[in-house]
Amino acid sequence: MTRAEVQQITLRRDTADPLPVMESFYTIQGEGTWTGTAAYFVRLAGCDVGCFWCDVKESWAPSEDQYQTSEEIVREAKASGAKRVVITGGEPTIYDLTVLTDALHRAGLIVHIETAGPYPLRGDIDWVCLSPKKFLVPRADLYERVNELKVIIYNDDDFRWAEEHAALCPPHTQLFLQPEWSRRERNYPKVLDYVMAHPHWRLSMQTHKYLDIR
Ligand code: SF4
Repeated sequence: MTRAEVQQITLRRDTADPLPVMESFYTIQGEGTWTGTAAYFVRLAGCDVGCFWCDVKESWAPSEDQYQTSEEIVREAKASGAKRVVITGGEPTIYDLTVLTDALHRAGLIVHIETAGPYPLRGDIDWVCLSPKKFLVPRADLYERVNELKVIIYNDDDFRWAEEHAALCPPHTQLFLQPEWSRRERNYPKVLDYVMAHPHWRLSMQTHKYLDIR
């Protein structure tokens, strides 16, 4: 599916409520700062970033039967017993998340987002994890909102890309390098060496994949 086709499908329903939910589930966060922390994931469908190594390509195009109201999403999240909700995708900034994030907060939940940052961040988010992608770069105004930067290392040039983005983020930002899963055997030694030589970075492992959980 081309970028234009994905945009046509997602922008046709660019409303704040309902939103297309590909899947939602309560699990343990496997990556970054909050690794090991219980979290309820809401994976919104719709992404036009186009990473060729994407492991959730089925999230790129939403379908009509996926739309859920914010009320339904919050009710299910609350029923799970979660304290934190991670809005992910797909690319969640395609959508206006104001209605959903306000409803999550009213229910007493803490709201995280995982984004490549190509569109304006609309909504009240407590923790912003930016994972910039070369295929559709983040918006300049997003960097000041970033709490955590997570750069996927696919090839050697991605270390340069990581430093470029770290320089744009606020000083308190948590910095992570994460080997791309399909090349992990090649990339782990490089990332470990890089983190030891540049200790402002930390290693992020996709621990949920090692545990074989979602
Ligand atoms: S931004 Fe995420 S969901 Fe979109 S193509 Fe890249 S890895 Fe896949």
